[in-house]
Amino acid sequence: MKQSDKIKIAIASGKGGTGKTFVATNLFYSLKKRDYDVDMVDCDAEEPNCTIFISGDLVGSTDITHKVPVIDEIACAYCDKCRQYCNYKAIFLLPEAKIIKVIEELCHGCGACSVACEYGAIREKDVVQGEVNRYRLDNGCYLTEARMKIGVMSPVPVIKAAINKAGENNIKIMDSPPGTSCPFIHTVARADYVVLVTEPTPFGLSDLRQSIKTLDGMDKRYGVIINRAGLGDTKTYDYLKTNNIPLLMEISFDRKIACHYSKGELIAKEDIQWREKFIDLFNNILKHYGDSGN
Ligand code: SF4
Ligand code: SF4
Repeated sequence: MKQSDKIKIAIASGKGGTGKTFVATNLFYSLKKRDYDVDMVDCDAEEPNCTIFISGDLVGSTDITHKVPVIDEIACAYCDKCRQYCNYKAIFLLPEAKIIKVIEELCHGCGACSVACEYGAIREKDVVQGEVNRYRLDNGCYLTEARMKIGVMSPVPVIKAAINKAGENNIKIMDSPPGTSCPFIHTVARADYVVLVTEPTPFGLSDLRQSIKTLDGMDKRYGVIINRAGLGDTKTYDYLKTNNIPLLMEISFDRKIACHYSKGELIAKEDIQWREKFIDLFNNILKHYGDSGN
């Protein structure tokens, strides 16, 4: 890879607790330590925790807002059009009783109701959805964190803002939200390559299949890391082989790793061999990214 080449790598998993943050933070640290131009984005806005493992100076915090409708009940004709346009059932209307309410917790700020209203009865107000925090680390690297406000319906606006505000370095490591719903999709949509972290268990394989189905639908390139290797069965390996999916790395179950992780420590910082393993992972990603297809 030339220094001028750019790549965004999302580290994702079908469910929480499989070790994606472990991989993301250790990969980022190992690259940074090798003087790669790398930034990190914590996109897991509902539960961002990269700052537990990577510390830096907070250099900026921005509130992320979206537009929520405010209905003027005097101008409103109770025509029902705004409610029909709302895909999120965020407008409650009883025309006979002349009652209309916006349920702010359900509103996604799409603006469809404002477009629909022909009576000029809707104006919009800004409502805070969360914040984006930027931390400056050494070597000119940044960690950008998406943090959603409690009680907000969707972390997507905060995730999008965090990715847009990420540092300018050529390599970006994105710690994706778990699962395969909108937060995951909006994160991996911005990635050039997706690393799926799984465990060799029936549950792990079921979640992995779902993630892969979603990524195939998005025409994304991806590879897989098997974490806690040796604990489960071989079905995940068989599945990868049959479907010609790259196995990028195996991480054996090791109490030493769990111990460091529980203390908020990076194994790549404590153990140079692990740093080399994560550099190998990066080279493996580049190799498969450079190949056509998976
Ligand atoms: S902005 Fe969109 S989601 Fe919110 S109430 Fe209007 S139509 Fe519904
Ligand atoms: S579209 Fe406008 S006029 Fe019709 S119910 Fe909604 S706010 Fe009232």
